[in-house]
Amino acid sequence: MGELRTLLKTIFLSLAIAATQSDAATPKDRLPGESIPSHYSLDLILDPRSATYDGTVEIIFDTTNASVSTIHLHTSNETITITSALLNFNYACNATGYDKGYEIITLECPVNSSKDKDNSLVLKFQGKFTTGDMTGLYKSTYTEDGKENVLLATQFESSAARSAFPCFDEPELKATFDIFITHPDDYNVLANTPVKKQYTVASKQLQTQFETTPKMSTYLVAFIVSKFVSSGNDTKKSYDYQVFSRPGAKEYTGIATTYGPKLVDLLSKWTGIDYNDLGDKQAYQVAVPDFAAGAMENWGLITYREIELLDEKNNTSNAAKQRIISVIAHELTHQWFGDYVTLDWWSDAWLNEGFATYFEYYIPDQLDDKLDTMRQFVVNELHVALQADAVSSALPLTSHADSEAEYSAKFDTLTYSKGASVIRMLKNIIGEKAFKDGLHQYLTKNNYSNADPSALLSSFAAQTPVELDKIMHNWIYESGFPLVTITRNDSSLILSQERFSLQKPNNTETTEWYIPISYTTEASKNFNVNISAWLNPNSTLEIKLDKPMSWIIFNLRQAGYYRVNYDTHSWNHIIEALKSHTSDIDVLNRAQLVDDIFNIAKAGRIDYETAFDLAEYLKNETEYYPWVAAVKVLTFIGEKLDDDKAVKQLESKILSWINKAFPPSNETADQTHIGKLKEVLIQDWACRVGQSQCIDYAKNTFQSYKANRTLPDYNKRGLVFCHGFRNSLNLSDDYDFLFNLFKTTPSVVEKNEIIASLGCTEDPDILNKYLLETIAKNSSIRRQDAALVFKAAYSHSAVGTNVTLSFLENNLKAIAEVYKGMNAVPSLVLGLADRVNSDEGAERLTKVIKDNSNIEGVKLISQQAIDIMTANRNWAKTYTALTMGALQPLLTTILALAVTQSKAAILPADRLPGVFSPSHYSLDLILDPRSSTYDGFVEIIYDSKDTLISLMDLHASLPTLKITSALLNFKHGCNPTYYDIDYEIVTLECPYNTTKLEDNSLVIHFEGKFTVDDMTGLYKSTYTEEGEENVLLATYFAPAAARNVFPCFDEPELKATFDIFITHPEDFIALANTPVQKQYTVGFNQIKTQFGTTPKMSTYLVAFVVSKFVSTSSDIGKDYDYQIFTRAGAKEYTSVAATYTPKLIDLLGNWTGIEYKDLGNKQAYQVAIPDFGVSAMENWGLITFREVALLDEKNKTPSASKQRIIATVAHELAHQWFGDYVTLDWWSDAWLNEGFATYFQNYIPDQLDDKLDMMKQFVVNELQEALQADALTSASPLSSPVYGKTQYDSKFDTISYSKGAGIVRMLQSIIGEKAFKDGLHQYLTKNKYNNTAPSELLNSFATQTPLKLDKIMYNWIYESGFPLVTMSRNKSFLILSQEKFTLQNLSNAVVTEWNIPISYTTAAKKNFNVDISAWLNPNSTLEIKLDDPASWIVFNLRRTGYYRVNYDTRSWNHIIEALVNHTADIDVLNRAQLVDDIFNIARAGRIEYKMAFDLAEYLVNETEYYPWVAALKALSFIRGKLGDDEAEKLLESRILFWINKAFPPGNQIVAKTHVDRLKEVLILDSACRSGQSECISYTKETFQSYKVNSTLPDYNKRGLVFCHGFRNSLNSSEDYEFLLNLFKTSSSVVEQNDILTSLACTEDPYILNRYLSETIAENTSIKRQDVSLVFKAVYSQSSIGVDACLKFLQMNMIAVPQVYKGLNVLPSLILGLADKANSDDQVERFLKLLKDYSNIESVKLVNQKATDITTANRNWTKTYAVGIKELLKDNKNAAHVIAPQAQQLLQQQEHPRLGLDWEQQLELGEQQDFTDDFEQQELAGAFLSARVRLLASSTKLACSEDFLQPHSGNRKRFGQCCSQN
Ligand SMILES: [Zn+2]
Ligand SMILES: [Zn+2]
Repeated sequence: MGELRTLLKTIFLSLAIAATQSDAATPKDRLPGESIPSHYSLDLILDPRSATYDGTVEIIFDTTNASVSTIHLHTSNETITITSALLNFNYACNATGYDKGYEIITLECPVNSSKDKDNSLVLKFQGKFTTGDMTGLYKSTYTEDGKENVLLATQFESSAARSAFPCFDEPELKATFDIFITHPDDYNVLANTPVKKQYTVASKQLQTQFETTPKMSTYLVAFIVSKFVSSGNDTKKSYDYQVFSRPGAKEYTGIATTYGPKLVDLLSKWTGIDYNDLGDKQAYQVAVPDFAAGAMENWGLITYREIELLDEKNNTSNAAKQRIISVIAHELTHQWFGDYVTLDWWSDAWLNEGFATYFEYYIPDQLDDKLDTMRQFVVNELHVALQADAVSSALPLTSHADSEAEYSAKFDTLTYSKGASVIRMLKNIIGEKAFKDGLHQYLTKNNYSNADPSALLSSFAAQTPVELDKIMHNWIYESGFPLVTITRNDSSLILSQERFSLQKPNNTETTEWYIPISYTTEASKNFNVNISAWLNPNSTLEIKLDKPMSWIIFNLRQAGYYRVNYDTHSWNHIIEALKSHTSDIDVLNRAQLVDDIFNIAKAGRIDYETAFDLAEYLKNETEYYPWVAAVKVLTFIGEKLDDDKAVKQLESKILSWINKAFPPSNETADQTHIGKLKEVLIQDWACRVGQSQCIDYAKNTFQSYKANRTLPDYNKRGLVFCHGFRNSLNLSDDYDFLFNLFKTTPSVVEKNEIIASLGCTEDPDILNKYLLETIAKNSSIRRQDAALVFKAAYSHSAVGTNVTLSFLENNLKAIAEVYKGMNAVPSLVLGLADRVNSDEGAERLTKVIKDNSNIEGVKLISQQAIDIMTANRNWAKTYTALTMGALQPLLTTILALAVTQSKAAILPADRLPGVFSPSHYSLDLILDPRSSTYDGFVEIIYDSKDTLISLMDLHASLPTLKITSALLNFKHGCNPTYYDIDYEIVTLECPYNTTKLEDNSLVIHFEGKFTVDDMTGLYKSTYTEEGEENVLLATYFAPAAARNVFPCFDEPELKATFDIFITHPEDFIALANTPVQKQYTVGFNQIKTQFGTTPKMSTYLVAFVVSKFVSTSSDIGKDYDYQIFTRAGAKEYTSVAATYTPKLIDLLGNWTGIEYKDLGNKQAYQVAIPDFGVSAMENWGLITFREVALLDEKNKTPSASKQRIIATVAHELAHQWFGDYVTLDWWSDAWLNEGFATYFQNYIPDQLDDKLDMMKQFVVNELQEALQADALTSASPLSSPVYGKTQYDSKFDTISYSKGAGIVRMLQSIIGEKAFKDGLHQYLTKNKYNNTAPSELLNSFATQTPLKLDKIMYNWIYESGFPLVTMSRNKSFLILSQEKFTLQNLSNAVVTEWNIPISYTTAAKKNFNVDISAWLNPNSTLEIKLDDPASWIVFNLRRTGYYRVNYDTRSWNHIIEALVNHTADIDVLNRAQLVDDIFNIARAGRIEYKMAFDLAEYLVNETEYYPWVAALKALSFIRGKLGDDEAEKLLESRILFWINKAFPPGNQIVAKTHVDRLKEVLILDSACRSGQSECISYTKETFQSYKVNSTLPDYNKRGLVFCHGFRNSLNSSEDYEFLLNLFKTSSSVVEQNDILTSLACTEDPYILNRYLSETIAENTSIKRQDVSLVFKAVYSQSSIGVDACLKFLQMNMIAVPQVYKGLNVLPSLILGLADKANSDDQVERFLKLLKDYSNIESVKLVNQKATDITTANRNWTKTYAVGIKELLKDNKNAAHVIAPQAQQLLQQQEHPRLGLDWEQQLELGEQQDFTDDFEQQELAGAFLSARVRLLASSTKLACSEDFLQPHSGNRKRFGQCCSQN
């Protein structure tokens, strides 16, 4: 039986078997063996239109025992009813017994059968055609020309002949057959032998008699009653070869007709036995529409599933052609191996199938070596067998088979593939000639008879001296195979063996084998050598090595059936050879090495890092076989990884290999057979891992196929359908198209491809629709194909797996019903079990299995399915993280570890190979801002580490650059041969090697395009002045856009010096990093400007600007050249920058101990660029700014604006030291640049002017932001791997800037100011013009401090998040413990603990200056003794530590009491910290909001800036999330209440200092927002008066006045026009920014919509850079703004990303909205938007994150909103004002219950706090909180008595009570 293994049915059955059964004399399934049949006359009356038939069989038999009157024979009661039995024509026999399980009937006859004489048994019977499972004699239907046709066909293997007629149904009981079939005359009939006679027996009834068959087994009998037609026979052979099919398929039999006879002839020749000498001259091939197996080798009448036999004429793909040839070869082989000589019993099924499978490859290879099938054997059969044979449930080749289920189970992968592989090994052992001669003898000796393995081996015995019996025994009779392990011992290798197992090795399995060993070495490279030694059981083998320093490879061409593992040293040699001399190793061994190493890794015997290291060689691999192996092993990993990030990493890794090995741009189609197979394999894989060229190809080709129904290459139809459909923009239509095509196409190959392709989509609805087809009534999907549909659906994607699982859950009963008899459910369950890769999925499937164990077959496979899931889940849990690590071995390097060795190992594909180091660039560009392109050339001087390099990888972004020529060392022209589109790496192939360690020169000429969309690379910016549009060119290269502008080695580590030459129109000026050196006229109106050589620096810092800018040149008498450049109209707005910059430069020089000019560049230019993507960029010597970050407003400059300019300038200047002079080594360490720049942007201005108070602002601005961002599980560590441009960009986030600076600040507090300064000086000096990782930074501090900084800082740097320090009390101790703080669900949080510096002060000391007094270390707690447990203690002084602190209730109450009573006792930064901490801890669910709001009540005393910043930030999270208007109002009025108390509106803040002014704006804005009438009238009036006279009393409040004046405007339409017009005409960019924000303040939906529409209007005045600001302003101002944005997006979801192509506008808008959408309606609309537009790339990108944010917010609202509303309601009525008199009065009161005074009560409370008595504790707690609240109230005495009741919700009563006063 061919290809039966493709059926899941067998897989299922093979699993269900209890391995062995003790056999008695005769197993119950066997006949007793007394009756031996010699001939059958079978006479059947068959009408396909009927459901039953009549039949007669006469069986001639001998008997071995004369005294037997009982006859046992097979018959199936399910289909056959025996009506009479007559022995020797005279004696009627009776049925006296029937064994239902084994289908054996017992006939009792009145006389004994005669011994050794032909007895006759005539049986008359009635039969039923089967319909369900396509076995026995069954009906099949097909539709042609709209007409349904029916036919009868047979499938008897292994034991279904008995269901068609009574017989002795065992393979050993061979007989000859005369077959007579009566049938309607409009049908024809076929059987095993040619027709002998035909006569009419009744009206329209013919009887056909066939010639007598050779002596053969019952399972080979076959006949077909049909209307099939023959494709004719003109082969002129001695045998009759014909191909039959339904008439409509007749024209698709070309391959079968052509190749079949050639294969017959080859087999005849090779075996030495002609086909017709076998005994049957007929060789018919029949394609049957419904066929369960692949094909069946019935003697003379081979039946096939249509797909296995029918081609597509000229459109036949190479794969289909090969498949047809192989299957025919397989079945024809069976005529010799199976029919002529037959297995003796099913336990030896491999004797049939192993040979048929081996010859299925061997014979076609003889026919046409272009087919190269013997090499395919290795990857198609051998690798598959090794896979299946590595599980403990694998059966030996020969093993018991004692029931129908066990017979079927023997037709598994092992019987076919291992059988053939062991035969291949055997041939290799004894040699080709002995093999051939031995088989000839085997066939001749056993013809018309049966054989077992010993018969086979004895046929070889005469041909070979090898003791085959002994050698082959364990390969045949034991399961599994050996792993040969190589270890080294000085100059020899030791080989040992053990059984290879993917599961935990079972100690009882100690099989060892006789293993043929072959090997070759680097010296001989001879892969033809034969077996040179044997590794025998229970011994090792030693092999002496001549050259231990080179590679050695075992198991040449993988002729042996085993795997090989090497020692590390040997693997490394092999890996190196694969990478550098790929073709030195035979292609089959390359495939073997890939397959072996990944499977050995899967078995846990080698690490994945080594496996992936080996796999890196694939980028050189252009041959088919290794890729087949790779696809298989990598698919396993891809399917099983349970982390999307890991899957993405793997995919991009694979893509990088494919792109290298098969550059997509230059496809040189290999037209050979294997070339075609390879092309499809690689392209399918490329599409799967997301190669855009492939996806585009598939999409376009699919669409064009839809239009004109033709394809350029039918080999690719499957992949075009699959990926075209998967990436379709119109899934529903395309589904209908494909499904309709499925129904109508005449090609079964096409049908099959469509079945697979329909499963490719990831749309759940479509997939579900598709799956439902399988159980629909009148479905067009054939029963035989349902398993293919299921497999297509669950195997293409995780979505598909999930949908199929749901489908199974919902429709299990229906599936079981529809596919009764076919094991559809068990096979689906097993397939799914292998694919579910989440715990949740595994749980669901387990439940399905458990709940449905009553369904046929489910119970049998339940354990198997659960084992598969468990194994896969275990694999995923063990290896997912390891795989990710293995994919990026470079980036997982550990701090302070010697990095050097691993660096050499492998580089990720986004990195250059690191062979070349550039030292100098001469860059010459011809730039005209009025043009859209430019010409340029670059000369790069570089060294090479290697001599033998003629290939050069360097960066160049081909979308903007075109390389026109490249010249090596001025002589050798090089050609770009490959482009890696993802990583923008061009490979130049030069005819000459570069010279090692010497200055090589590479000159590249290129053409470039200016970018316009995204403000990166070399881009155009425009601005209008005095009605005239001006254009300029500017650059922005960080992190990886220098490559967009000129070819270069664009990595920060590859530093070089630069000479820049720019030719430009003479009415423009050119600026670059260094001062102008020369200028000369080069052509008509053209000037060439040459700049001085730069210091050695990274490419991303190169910059130039070509513009008409002017300088506000000022000679400041410095030793560096400082100038500011702006457009002419902005020249007068540079005074803040001009005043502060030189001071900041000097301070930085002073502080670092390195003067600016000593850095190496005397130029310090600043340029304000009208269009600029970020705030500013630190290009060395030429810092570029967004205008608003550099330009002021002269004397109107608001304080906030002034501060922004100073901070931005300080940040960029700090970069000249931290970033330019010393540079991060890779983007994963972006914080080394940005953390320091952010720290110094605060520190240095603070040194300059302490009025700016920047270091205090740092705490509320940077630190608080960092703690916020770092509390999300999505936060990445400071240093974390990055791979590809998007990830480099993502490192420039809040974490790198703010957490980076926060950690720098903490580090400073840990080691002290002096050590910090000295350490940084050393760091800069030691690493100048060079690059650093965190370890270099810490090393520099190491000499300054005794602390083990690398240990202490490790987790702060390499882990995400930060600790929550929790304080608890134990008698008089405080216990500090830590855990990771997170705002999200903690259950799956990674456990990280830190070394935490602890500082604290108490009410007694009130000293906030103290340093770190203790460390809280990982995995331990810290005890602190308290002198005075009855007063407050505050930790983390001035918040120098990067963590939050939570206290026990009592301590919080002490703190709150202090805040309320003695506010100033607690340092202002700790007050800010307490507010920020408590609200965030409440948000994380770790403390009641009640406590947080209690603490917030102290704000009525708070008149300082920082705590208010913290408070308003914390409250802004709650604002808008309460989901209830009333609650929101209550919140606003509470805020207003605090503001009004702290800052009574009558006497406004008198703003004297810088920070006062910031405070005034902050407080007023909040007051206005919360509805303070004084504030609103002020803004309204001031706004109206501004409209009239264009002047303001205080420009600090402009934003405030505009916003609230406009919000509360009575004529918002007019005021909108006014503001928009002012925006267009204003000369101040600061004012413009204020207006952009203010325009969003209105709550008029119509106006908001107008404003939003302005962003996508043509000729809008809003700059591209500012559009995100507009959106943010709108959605964060109000709920109405959220509505407006939603509505706007509903209309313009497509337009926004189109207009803002290249910018991140849409994703940031979506994420912002996700956070702000709050009402059910908004959330619903928002989620619908995401769903409707999920096809848009930028939506895809943030879809999950946005949904997560929304969900988290909804959860927060559900959990907390109601409680907070209640709190606010209570507070609403409470008049909380400090009233010392009340406090005094209260203290004098006696408690009514206890008769103690206040102090006594409190004392009692303090003491009882330390008791274990819950009630006492509660009482004490109640006292404390009561006191806190009481002291804060102005309540009258009358209230006190009431609320002091400790147990009765005193808070509420207090409120009610006081409200009456
Ligand atoms: Zn077969
Ligand atoms: Zn920066």
